[in-house]
Amino acid sequence: MGVHAVRGQIQEWVSASPIYNEEGCNVAANNKPTLAQSPTDSIDHESKSALGRALVTLGDMWTVRILRSVFLGTRRFQELRDELDISDPVLSRRLRNLVEAGLLERVRYQTNPTRHEYLPTESGTDLWRIMVAIWAWDRTWASPRHRDAHIELTHQACGHQAQPIFGCGHCGAIGLTARDVRGSVDDRLLLDVRSERSRRSPVMSTPIDASEVLGDRWSTLVLSDALTGSHRFGDFQDRINISPVTLTDRLNLFVETGLMSREAISSGARRQEYRLTPKGLDIFSVFATINSWARQWLSENGSTGLSLTHISCGSELEPRFTCNTCNGVLVLEDLHFEAADRSEVNDR
Ligand SMILES: [Zn+2]
Ligand SMILES: [Zn+2]
Repeated sequence: MGVHAVRGQIQEWVSASPIYNEEGCNVAANNKPTLAQSPTDSIDHESKSALGRALVTLGDMWTVRILRSVFLGTRRFQELRDELDISDPVLSRRLRNLVEAGLLERVRYQTNPTRHEYLPTESGTDLWRIMVAIWAWDRTWASPRHRDAHIELTHQACGHQAQPIFGCGHCGAIGLTARDVRGSVDDRLLLDVRSERSRRSPVMSTPIDASEVLGDRWSTLVLSDALTGSHRFGDFQDRINISPVTLTDRLNLFVETGLMSREAISSGARRQEYRLTPKGLDIFSVFATINSWARQWLSENGSTGLSLTHISCGSELEPRFTCNTCNGVLVLEDLHFEAADRSEVNDR
């Protein structure tokens, strides 16, 4: 979601004048969206594919940032507000939606006055691979001033600082990129996308990190499409039914931010292709982990709308991270994130 769209939503919520309690939680709220609906707006939308629903739930910049902070150990309203520099209404609405989506649980930690904290549920905890993928991408590709650049991951099983290596859990291959995987999108996902179309901003500002890329659904779709083989303007248009204005904006943005390069097709002077750069290819692990989470938690039949096959072993990709130092498979219990200034960020 672009900055303007975020501001627009903030304005919309502020002007709706909800009632907030001492923690800024909206106590007047009584509309309860289901997991099939967007947590970030009240427009009814029954997404049909599991990935479509995951992108509706997670495809929001503030939601990703809140989950990331909770994952790193910031769990109280005021602490989240201060850490994220987010307004009370926006934070309380996102937290409420995350609770309703079953990803966070609101737990009382103090009485008189009553205070609550937000803990990840089982499905929320299982977002950890996505959070690791986002952290790894931001650390490599976002600004050196980005918070993720100053957080280190220690693999406690070997005691070393770790760089997670993406791989296939089925065959054990490591160092996988989008080029090692064949993707196919089914019609239901495309249908989901088309029904979201009217709410997308045609123009967005330059994304500074993975949370902003994920926060804009057209960005995630164009990138997913590029990761599964589209290179030309017409391919994107045909496959995701995106307007030329929105597509032009996103492609320009991806070229500007180094996610894609624009190359002339040798046979035709005026035609161009868009190729993912290493930075663009690297975001594949974020999409693959989201897709895998969606299959685990949101799919009734094992299908998500996006099938990713590891070409060399022929199996559906099971994302797995290994430690670059000891080659051990990373599990949540062995991960320890810590700020580089040595002040503790979190146990897991
Ligand atoms: Zn494999
Ligand atoms: Zn290790």
